[in-house]
Amino acid sequence: MTTDLPHFRYHPDPIASGSVRESAETCACCGRSTGWIYTASFYTAQNVNGRLCPWCIADGSAAERFEGEFIDAYGLDGISEETLMEVTRRTPGFHTWQDPYWLVHCNDAAAFIGEVGYAELAAHPEALDQLRLDLRMGGWHDASRLENFLTHLGQGANAMLFRCTVCGTRLAYADAS
Ligand SMILES: [Zn+2]
Ligand SMILES: [Zn+2]
Repeated sequence: MTTDLPHFRYHPDPIASGSVRESAETCACCGRSTGWIYTASFYTAQNVNGRLCPWCIADGSAAERFEGEFIDAYGLDGISEETLMEVTRRTPGFHTWQDPYWLVHCNDAAAFIGEVGYAELAAHPEALDQLRLDLRMGGWHDASRLENFLTHLGQGANAMLFRCTVCGTRLAYADAS
């Protein structure tokens, strides 16, 4: 689908990922009905009466007006302050069971691709290997249980897939209900 949606460096296809969808809803920030509405996380202490359009995300006006963030800064270590602001305040978040967080590679935030199951993850062996290693370090010591968990991704638990914006490597973390 071709659209005139703003470009998000760290979330290149928010329609495919399900964070933005077609809608006649009016944006709570600009008051316009742009045809598209954002459906995922937005953290603010203020009362936002409705949802936001992608343009008010892209230009930072929604984050500024409501003093909010689309993603927590947790995990966004080793990147520039500028990138941190772009990811947390000018990039659409995504749908997860647990609190979403963003992956970092090559000292830059990675681009969020979407939620995937085992088959899609296995198409990127480097992402599968990295996730296996992370889970092992996180305390999954039983190898057969770990493999069982990985091969059943997509059923209850999912992998959140990212692509490094510098070297192109795919990376992932597991999100479970
Ligand atoms: Zn708007
Ligand atoms: Zn990289």
